[in-house]
Amino acid sequence: MDDSISYTWPIMPKYKVCEHDKYGIRKNHYVLFKTREHSGFDITADYGTEVKSMAKGKVIFTGFDGTTTEGLEQFNMGYGNIIEILNDDGRRCIYGHLSEILVKEGDKVNNNTIIGKTGCTGGSRVPHLHIEIRRTNTNETGLKNTINPLDVLPKLDFSKINLKYTTEPYSELWKKMASEENPWDFTEEDIWYEEDKRYIK
Ligand SMILES: [Zn+2]
Repeated sequence: MDDSISYTWPIMPKYKVCEHDKYGIRKNHYVLFKTREHSGFDITADYGTEVKSMAKGKVIFTGFDGTTTEGLEQFNMGYGNIIEILNDDGRRCIYGHLSEILVKEGDKVNNNTIIGKTGCTGGSRVPHLHIEIRRTNTNETGLKNTINPLDVLPKLDFSKINLKYTTEPYSELWKKMASEENPWDFTEEDIWYEEDKRYIK
């Protein structure tokens, strides 16, 4: 176990960070529409952005987590296409909602090894990367088993990251989530209802 490993950003945040993206308690989850823990940090991204490993480690799992569905009546759930990496410091890192997985179990990775591409698979309504850092090598998620990724990643001045996400059909929901006045004021009505292959693995 190496406590001195350093963490790097898997993709550089480009779009404004919404309340919904942050680690902690979400007041209105955009799949469940109720209060729910968020055990990671979400980085809104252009579909297909290359995702890099945040630290040195080994790939311990790749696969799909969730329900493949069509439409909102049968919610997509879970991490979608997921990569799990056991970092050399003993923590497990999760990369979720990917469109592509470019590593396999057993692969060794370093900071900035390209491991996959961003997407909108699983419980995702705007293309983004979900990153999660578990305190130990555990299957258990939840706030008590994780740390805030911002505690170990290089500091960024989020006030300078202000780009608006404009890609259709996701931008209307994103705009509500990015609202200064009431970032939790979105409903099922704001979700793209028609079949969108990009939601599905
Ligand atoms: Zn997330």
